[in-house]
Amino acid sequence: MPAFASGSNTAVKADSYGAVMNKDGYSYKKLGNKYFIRVDKDTEIIRALKEICAENNITAGEITGIGAIKSATFGFFNPETKQYSEKTFDEYMEITSLLGNVSQKDGEVYLHLHMNASGKDYKTIGGHLVKSTVSATCEIILTSQEGSIGRKFSEDIGLNLFDF
Ligand code: FE
Repeated sequence: MPAFASGSNTAVKADSYGAVMNKDGYSYKKLGNKYFIRVDKDTEIIRALKEICAENNITAGEITGIGAIKSATFGFFNPETKQYSEKTFDEYMEITSLLGNVSQKDGEVYLHLHMNASGKDYKTIGGHLVKSTVSATCEIILTSQEGSIGRKFSEDIGLNLFDF
């Protein structure tokens, strides 16, 4: 089966540079080792990114993005209690910065993403990204790196750290 022919809602078209993949709630085009991704209205961003990494066997990489969202849940990690607290913001916001990386844990895609977003008062909030839903569009560039980076839980820190 061709690498690009998975999923029932996949439409494939191509120009001389690369194929375009149309999926449920997002589309992307690969140029070299970079995936240019459009996440569509009402789609949860992390779900889209995990699917893209899984279907393209991306096991190490870098993510940057901007866009417009209607909801975001941020986490804050307390290093003393080793626990995350979470807060959800249901409002229209601009993603001023979406940053993160792709690795692997226990054979599964592992995304670590942080986001800053600004609302109608132009003030920015942010944190460890738990989930976020698009209001208009979100533009993400995912750079795929050859090889793989694993993760392992650290009892000392309380987080899944890069494991080399
Ligand atoms: Fe984090």
